[in-house]
Amino acid sequence: MAEESFDATPFLPERRTLAALRDAACDCRGCDLWRPATQTVFGEGPKDATFVLVGEVPGDREDREGRPFVGPAGRELDKALEAAGIDRAEAYVTNAVKHFRFEERGKRRIHQKPDAKQIKACRPWLLAELDLLRPEALVLLGATAAKSLLGSGFRLMAERGRPLDSELAPVVIATIHPSSILRGRDGEARQAQRDMLIEDLREAAQALARPGATASDRA
Ligand code: SF4
Repeated sequence: MAEESFDATPFLPERRTLAALRDAACDCRGCDLWRPATQTVFGEGPKDATFVLVGEVPGDREDREGRPFVGPAGRELDKALEAAGIDRAEAYVTNAVKHFRFEERGKRRIHQKPDAKQIKACRPWLLAELDLLRPEALVLLGATAAKSLLGSGFRLMAERGRPLDSELAPVVIATIHPSSILRGRDGEARQAQRDMLIEDLREAAQALARPGATASDRA
């Protein structure tokens, strides 16, 4: 497939339910990432989730298990959600790109960031998920998710941790991806990243609790 024709749109089902989307995404060939990956890793969580969290791309473990955020970054996310007082069971988690992108080095598969064409190609799946879920709070984990939904000019470190003006959800907050904790050069750096993620998730929960934050408050 030529890169200029990368697009998941032809693979989306007519019937829009999360189950139908998930099934159809298994056969997506909207970009080149399906070929080396094990399987599509679609979003997961309750359809009436209050929070939707969007990451970048599945990792090695997620690719093998077919579920998002089940690897080391997922464990960091779980701990941060708990520290921020957000019930993981009330959150739907997904990624901006649904297939693992990696480079093989010997026996290891090293994560690679998806490129702009792959992110754009996969966006119809993410938009279809959000359209069905209509979350109260949308948390964008990392620059890839934020740029996919808010535009390529989005600057994560300048705008993270505060409610953003967006029609995607009543509360939209961007923060770091939990994998950045794992990349910290030492314990102190990792803790600083961890604190940042918790602080931003806490802000999302607090923003949601403010009067007038949600559509049901305003009804
Ligand atoms: S990464 Fe997205 S657009 Fe590309 S093949 Fe996978 S599901 Fe389709």
